[in-house]
Amino acid sequence: MLKTHKALKRRSSHCMIKGTRMLIDTSHRFLKRISDIYRVKKGAGDVLPLTVGIPRMFYYYIYPGLWETFFRELGMKPVVSGMSTAKTVEKASEISETEHCLPNKLFDAHLAELAGRVDMIFVPRVLATIKDHLSCPKFGPLPDAARADIARVTEVLSIDIDETSQPLSSSLMLLGKKLNMPKARTVSAVKTAISAMQEARRKMDRPVRKKGRPYFLLAGHHYTIHDNFIAGPVLNKLQSMDVDVELISFSENTPEKSYILWSTSNAIYHKLNTISADEYDGVIQLSVFNCGCDSMMMDTYRQLVREKNIPYMFLMIDEHSAQAGIDTRVEAFIDSLGWRK
Ligand code: SF4
Repeated sequence: MLKTHKALKRRSSHCMIKGTRMLIDTSHRFLKRISDIYRVKKGAGDVLPLTVGIPRMFYYYIYPGLWETFFRELGMKPVVSGMSTAKTVEKASEISETEHCLPNKLFDAHLAELAGRVDMIFVPRVLATIKDHLSCPKFGPLPDAARADIARVTEVLSIDIDETSQPLSSSLMLLGKKLNMPKARTVSAVKTAISAMQEARRKMDRPVRKKGRPYFLLAGHHYTIHDNFIAGPVLNKLQSMDVDVELISFSENTPEKSYILWSTSNAIYHKLNTISADEYDGVIQLSVFNCGCDSMMMDTYRQLVREKNIPYMFLMIDEHSAQAGIDTRVEAFIDSLGWRK
């Protein structure tokens, strides 16, 4: 048995509830001991690094490449859950709250995929990703909900991300401190991780536009437009119809301030405010079932785009969405554009 895993097993073996291994250490006590585990690990070449699970949802897409790079730079092994598929949705409908929005349900399924497989799961409390803005209130309780329910068999590692009170780099420094990492190593990990995120964002943003083909904007949240289950069927269909698509970019960290305090909603509002019919042949607003922010903003988005005389389609994805249904709606929308010419 590897020493790292021995240590983890030892600390949890005395608490068995209905056959489930429960960790009874508080996060604080556990994290205090991580440095000892590292020291053992460092001296023994045959010991595996600690594994940290990252659910492929929410903050995985909001900060692309950041978490994997940061943990790797600290000598840990990041394990990202798989892409969302119909199976993920199936799992989500078994274990998640029925009232949750679709991404929250998917998040729970990604969490369940990692629970028990890794030494710890990273679930930050994302309060504000942009200074003086707010994130969706659903992000606030994520670490507590993970600890109390789906991820209770695994240690949940968390930090607060609140860019109104401190920049992301400072939150990462605190995370390094929580893991008892030497300051110099954390400073270097922060630098490398932020560069990796900027590079990943550049890659995600790169729009592909071929001359003479219709060009569309796909607007939605980071984790909806990049999720395989939510956006995949729409992108597949557009591609099969030779329509080029630009996924809305969130690289600009400080979109112009407006009366909208939700960061993503304000970024979408700002983008829709600045586009023109010369650049885009259409806008598809990709929404998800039970999204409170979208339901508040939907009419504003629609009005903005229509004032610019750009064709607009609001597409809502739920657990039961299938490629055939998406195909019909997207096809009808693209065909209707022919009538405009
Ligand atoms: S913004 Fe909407 S989709 Fe995103 S977590 Fe909040 S309610 Fe869910």
